[in-house]
This record gives sequence, C-alpha cells and structure tokens, in this order.
Amino acid sequence: MKRRDFLVAGSAGALLAGCGAEQQPTNAAPAGKQQTFQWKMVTTWPKNFPGLGTGANNVARLITEMSGGRIQVTVYGAKELVPPFEVFDAVSSGTAELGHGAAYYWKGKSEVAQFFTAVPFGMNAQEMNAWLYYGGGMELWREVYAPFGVLPAAAGNSGIQMGGWFNREINSLDDLDGLKMRIPGLGGEVLRRAGGTPVSMPGSDIFTSLQSGAIDATEWVGPYNDLAFGLYKVAKHYYYPGWHEPGATLECLINQTAYDSLPAELQSIVINACRVVNGDMLAEYTARNNAALQSLVNEHNVDLRAFPDSVLERLRTLSEQVVAEIADRDALSAKVFESYRAFQRQAMSWHDISERAYMNIRGG
Ligand code: CA
Repeated sequence: MKRRDFLVAGSAGALLAGCGAEQQPTNAAPAGKQQTFQWKMVTTWPKNFPGLGTGANNVARLITEMSGGRIQVTVYGAKELVPPFEVFDAVSSGTAELGHGAAYYWKGKSEVAQFFTAVPFGMNAQEMNAWLYYGGGMELWREVYAPFGVLPAAAGNSGIQMGGWFNREINSLDDLDGLKMRIPGLGGEVLRRAGGTPVSMPGSDIFTSLQSGAIDATEWVGPYNDLAFGLYKVAKHYYYPGWHEPGATLECLINQTAYDSLPAELQSIVINACRVVNGDMLAEYTARNNAALQSLVNEHNVDLRAFPDSVLERLRTLSEQVVAEIADRDALSAKVFESYRAFQRQAMSWHDISERAYMNIRGG
C-alpha cells in the first residue's frame, strides 16, 4: 500500500522514498494525498458566457485552486463535448465528473426537479438559498437526483429574471393566445395553459429562432445576459417582471462515484466551491443588471414594459394549479412540494414586514 502511494505521488514521493523515515520533513503531506484527479465539467451554457458560463468556470477554477491542483477541472461549453441538454446524462454516466446547468432542463427525468431552479410566483433568490441550506431543500434535491447517481449542489443564482422579449404587445390575456415562446420549466407549462406554445431550447439557439420567426417571444435571463445575446436586435418589447423565474438557482451536477472516490477534504472543496459561486453569481447579476438595462433602453431604444396586472393575475392562478399538480406525481414530489410551500409561506410572513416593508419606505 505504502509503495503504491509513493508511485502515485510521482517524483517527489520517489525522492522521499529514498530517505530514512526520520529524515522526512515534518510538514510533508502523507504520500496518499498527492493523488491528483483530472475532471471534466460539461455545461449547458455557451463557453465563457457572462454570468452563467463564467460561473461554471469559477466553480472549476476554485476547485482547482483550493485543492492546490489536486483536482484539475477542464470546462467544456455547450456542444463542445456533449449537447447542452445531454449534460445530465453525461454526468450520470460518468462521461464527465461535473456538469453546470439548471435543474428545470431535466424535467424529463423528474418533473419535480424543476422546483430546484424556480417556481413561478415562488421564492426569490434569498428565500431559495434559505430553503436549500436551512430548510431541508438540499436534502430533498439530493434525494431526487440519487437514482441517477448524481449529487447536486446549488452553484449560482440569477436573481429575479425579466419577463422576456416579445414581438407583439401583451395588453391582455388574448395576446398570449397562440404565442410561441421559448420558456422552459414550470413557467412554460403555465404559458401553455394560458393559450401559448412553450418551447424549450438552449440559450445558444434563441437568437436565430427569434430572428427567423420560429418563435414569437423568448425569456432568457435579465438585462446583463440578454444584452450579451443581442436579443434587442430581434424583438421590440422587453417585459417585466420575471414571474416565471423569481430567483433561478443554477446547479453543479457531481457524478456520485467520482465524488465518493475523493478524500473528505477534497469533497469539502468541491461542495464549498459551489457554495461560493452560488452567492457570488447573485452579487454579479445584482451589480451588472442595471447598467445593462440602461444600455438597452438608452442606446438600443428597447421598449421596456410591465405586464398588465390582469395578465399576471391569471398567470398566478394557473401557476398555482401547475405547481400543485406536480405534488400528485409521487410521494417524493409531494414531499418536495409540501416542503417548498411551507417554507415559502413562512419566508413571506417574515419578508412582508422586513424586505417588502423596507422596499416600500426606502424611496427614490
Ligand atoms: Ca430564464
């Protein structure tokens, strides 16, 4: 065992092996800790895409840096190693040890997975993080992915998103009728019930689909990301708020077998690198969104509009139905739904007299 560890350790270990035990430096790491791991990360995002792609890069970089190079992670953007919507399967099968994406892309695996990205009219970023870390959400998320040999970690949050880009005005519910819109997750199902046709496609396909008229509208993220994709060039009206994604959690997918093969301190580094990026990404979006919004409105003459109240009220009613139906799928879905709903209620109770009350009195 000792001999094999020294062989793994390479030349440094070989040098130490030639010394008497009493001559070894007292601060030398045990030889077994020198083992290194070469990991791949596949992502659903275009390579280096602002916020999302760079968030994935940050997870990889932090894991490599904090481990002192003992885990070296190479990032592959969408389509570089696997197509964006095959990221989950790639991590599940071990083609890649890590993936970065969003849980609502995997509703074909488990419909309740969508709860771990965003729920329409559900919790915002602050509340989602509270549920995941202190309200039992993470444990439930792990339970949902366990049958696939995948360990999830929250690894980014966009904050509340924008309602999206539309090539027709939305003045009443009738304007949603027949609307073909890129909108994934539970929000897509809500749109379907409001008369629209939801389409799920990776970010990289949105611009050309809107340009060609294959879709009439799209949501993506918010000003910072939407400006980067140039969506203002192919749609006239930019609506808020993002009722469908009030604080979208991004995820890091970890192959369970690869994770189990790590010593405990490297496991901790992987999990905590995700946790750092989870908070960092929200700070970045919060910092950059308004400058991008000003650019869209003032330099690119985007028509910024609020959804009419009547439309939002109907979408909220439909959302409650869609979300509640997921609870009927199976026992685990019911457990996730109950946990989410109970946590949202208590978070709203507190935020009514704290965040909301403060926002109302802060003034301009
Ligand atoms: Ca979105």
